[in-house]
Amino acid sequence: MPGVHHVEARVFKDLFPRFKTMQGYHVPRQGGWDCHGLPVEVAVEQELGVSGKKAIEAYGIAEFNARCRESVLRHVDAFEALTERMGYWVDLEHAYRTMDRSYVESVWWSLKVIFDQGLLFSDYRISPYCPRCETPLSDHEMGQPDVYRTVSDPSVTVRFPLLSLPDGASQQLAGADLLVWTTTPWTLVSNTAVGVHPDETYAVARKSGHGDRVVVADSLVARVLGEGWHVVARAKGSELAGATYQPPFRLVTIPEAHRVVTASFVTTEDGTGLVHLAPAFGADDMQTIRAEGLPVVNPISRDGRFEDSVPLVGGMFFKDADAPLVSDLADRGLLFRSQMHEHSYPHCWRCHTPLMYYALPSWFIRTTAVKEQLLAENEKTNWQPPTIKDGRYGEWLRNNIDWALSRTRYWGTPLPLWLCANQHRTCVGSLAELSELAGRDLNDLDPHRPYVDEVVITCPECGGQARRVPEVIDAWYDSGSMPFARHGAPWQNQAEFERAFPAQFICEAIDQTRGWFYTLMAVSTLVLRRSSYENVVCLGLVVDERGRKMSKHLGNVLEPIPLMDAHGADALRWFFAASGSPWATRRVGRGVLDEIVRKVLLTYWNTVSFLVLYANAAAASGDRWDPGRLSDAPPVASRPVLDRWLLGELHALVRDVTAALESFDCAAAGRMIATFVDDLSNWYVRRSRRRFWEGPGTGGGAAAFATLYECLETLTRLMAPIVPFLTDYVWGVLRPGNAADSVHLTSWPAADTGLIDERLSGQMALARRLVELGRSARAAAVVRVRQPLARALVGSPGFGDLPADLRAQVAEELNVREVDTIASVTEGLVDYSVKPNYKSLGGRFGRGTPAVARAIEAADPAVLAAELGSGAMVTVEVDGAPVSLGPDDVVVTQVPRSGWAVASGAGETVALEITVTPELRREGLAREVVRLVQDARKSDGLDVIDRIWLRWSTADAELATALTEHAPLISAEVLAVDFRAQQGERPEPDAREHVDAELGLVFWLRRADSGD
Ligand SMILES: [Zn+2]
Ligand SMILES: [Zn+2]
Repeated sequence: MPGVHHVEARVFKDLFPRFKTMQGYHVPRQGGWDCHGLPVEVAVEQELGVSGKKAIEAYGIAEFNARCRESVLRHVDAFEALTERMGYWVDLEHAYRTMDRSYVESVWWSLKVIFDQGLLFSDYRISPYCPRCETPLSDHEMGQPDVYRTVSDPSVTVRFPLLSLPDGASQQLAGADLLVWTTTPWTLVSNTAVGVHPDETYAVARKSGHGDRVVVADSLVARVLGEGWHVVARAKGSELAGATYQPPFRLVTIPEAHRVVTASFVTTEDGTGLVHLAPAFGADDMQTIRAEGLPVVNPISRDGRFEDSVPLVGGMFFKDADAPLVSDLADRGLLFRSQMHEHSYPHCWRCHTPLMYYALPSWFIRTTAVKEQLLAENEKTNWQPPTIKDGRYGEWLRNNIDWALSRTRYWGTPLPLWLCANQHRTCVGSLAELSELAGRDLNDLDPHRPYVDEVVITCPECGGQARRVPEVIDAWYDSGSMPFARHGAPWQNQAEFERAFPAQFICEAIDQTRGWFYTLMAVSTLVLRRSSYENVVCLGLVVDERGRKMSKHLGNVLEPIPLMDAHGADALRWFFAASGSPWATRRVGRGVLDEIVRKVLLTYWNTVSFLVLYANAAAASGDRWDPGRLSDAPPVASRPVLDRWLLGELHALVRDVTAALESFDCAAAGRMIATFVDDLSNWYVRRSRRRFWEGPGTGGGAAAFATLYECLETLTRLMAPIVPFLTDYVWGVLRPGNAADSVHLTSWPAADTGLIDERLSGQMALARRLVELGRSARAAAVVRVRQPLARALVGSPGFGDLPADLRAQVAEELNVREVDTIASVTEGLVDYSVKPNYKSLGGRFGRGTPAVARAIEAADPAVLAAELGSGAMVTVEVDGAPVSLGPDDVVVTQVPRSGWAVASGAGETVALEITVTPELRREGLAREVVRLVQDARKSDGLDVIDRIWLRWSTADAELATALTEHAPLISAEVLAVDFRAQQGERPEPDAREHVDAELGLVFWLRRADSGD
């Protein structure tokens, strides 16, 4: 069933095609479904309540596969609902399915190409094997998360008493026991030999006061044996070869076995330096035993159980046999040591059964033959993040091993190989070819098991009857064949395939480096001599807000559709595409989605609402604004500085977002868009309210309406690939009459780089930094924002160049009458104190730190602070030698002198004169009243353009003076046509009363009428 992680990759698979479509490219959007494989079989086994291959065969392969097909189709519905809800623009009506006949035939064709190159072969191999699924696992399946789990297993050291010695061996060996260590006691039943390294020295050690003698690697005597043992003889591994021993069990017959052999893979890193060899259960064991000409005996059947004929453990599951076997060894005095041991052990990634390494006949693709080509193709591929190319993925290719292709299962693409009695192999590339070989029309055959199993052909080599091998193939091979198989190429649509090959862009999560990313590249390199993709975006894994994997067990699974219903599909899309690094592990939860809505999406939405609100207000005043009036606005060069700045930022944004998306870096695009949205709302709109309020009929208003509209219209197109729902709605509101109905059918905006003004951009950034500093100085001095102050002084290298209208913006934002440079004041505004930063000094000076610290404390704080503040290094004298210090080494604290509030940062300082004269105080009171009346207008439900009638009353003489003195200012701000003190009783029944206890003010207001 779909999970949140399924949304992740689909966001990227949607975003870049939308972007490219807006740029004017044709983007094929065929959906597709991977239908085959073990996961489907396991789900159906659970539905049917059966387990294992015997049960499936009793149920019937035809019926079983029919259930698998039906199960796949059921899941397709759930994924279609997800696709629709998240706004993934893809054609599902013509989706390819890997189980379709044309798809299977394409896969067969590719396998025949590989077979014809001699790269499809069979071998008896040790593979990781799931005894429940009864199938080997490929190496990329072993790379799935969750395969290795920590489990507790017996760790036993067993005595193998020596029976006979090779010629010339030390007599101290006679009657000694070889010590052998294993964590898989169940393999001891099949022990065939003991391996020693030919060049390693082995020791015969005797226990003090005992005749007991054992053999271990000389270097491991202390570690394995502990106290109380001493070495009585030594021998090279090569001198031990040929010795025979008493096997740990005699439950199966293994002719010629139970002797010491040399093997170069033996190490003394753990265990005893003597290695127990059971060839059916280990690759190294198999190789050594074959080289020695010893037999491969396997008493365990494919379901993981000992054969019934084996005494003691017959019929037992391999892991369950450990306990009785260990206890039998103990009873016979052969157990030297036994303990439980925690280690990492592989499990089936699908059904979680412990895996065994198991000898099976298997079909392989010799991918090692194209390793150099794979590395060359990888070299040409653009990876995001770039580290994957040579790291995780490159490593995988450099250590390439042959692809274990076959699965002894049911629901998969059947391996198209037919064998005759003479073992002649025929690889079949299509149903047409099969028809010819079978001598009947099989073009309508269901190419799945069991139907294809029933087709007997004539061997082209010997004319005998040939039957299909029973295996199906690894479903990952189907996925890797997608580029041609989705078209059914080469048997049909070959031209379409060639037109769309290779893909410009693919995307999946990082766990696919050994999965889809590999199989896509491997199959097309084998079959078509080149990789099937050029750019690949590799996404992080999805976890919960606390960084835990989502699981039913932890109860932290987020269902994607309810999540999108609660927060919006756009919020989830923005999260994956544009918030944080796409290739880091993604912590998804309700908190982060709320924050995206609040900080980005609502801010954008509110800015659109602001434009609509004022356009409607203008219409109500008979001065309607719509995009048709854009041409009335003054040319950009003649617009106010804020407009020129915003348009410059907009076009820089278009340029940079385009470049970021061209290089598949949507996180950078998201960051830049979010910053612009914040600039737009929290600076431009905030600083331009008055011009909107004045309406589009004035020169300033016309420029403001045009500028904001142009920015929102362009921004909406830039955001469309990431948040398609919100932008499409906004587009419906903003679009000019002749524009496309949907934002997704419009073209990608082009940057007008002539409007980008880097100098103005830098100056505006400085103005905003100064405003921030001024605000924090005001907050530190606890002076209300609405209280006007006489002046602000600025210390900043760029301040002198700031144009007058930007200085005016700063003054207005800081609510000061005047802004001047700090150099205009002769005496300093602050006292400095300096302290050593021990953390930084300690790292640099070590034991010399106290001396340096004393030198800092002794220096003139004002001089140090001034030099460090300008970004320079300072020199202090320590024990007669000069020592150079940087800003990190010294903590500078400034204490404002009385009457000033000061804040500094990054070499810039703003000082506010905080002495409030009676005149300033009255103006501050007037501004407080403006705010109270504005709030009252809102709560009374008045429109922004409504004029009001207002009466006030107060017992506070200062407030009364302030209101009288500033009546014109207040009236203008709150749109009062009649503003005066109330005489006598409550004025009029339809005026609403508002009381502010803090100021001691009562006022009454109502909408003004024509009589006022
Ligand atoms: Zn399994
Ligand atoms: Zn033949």
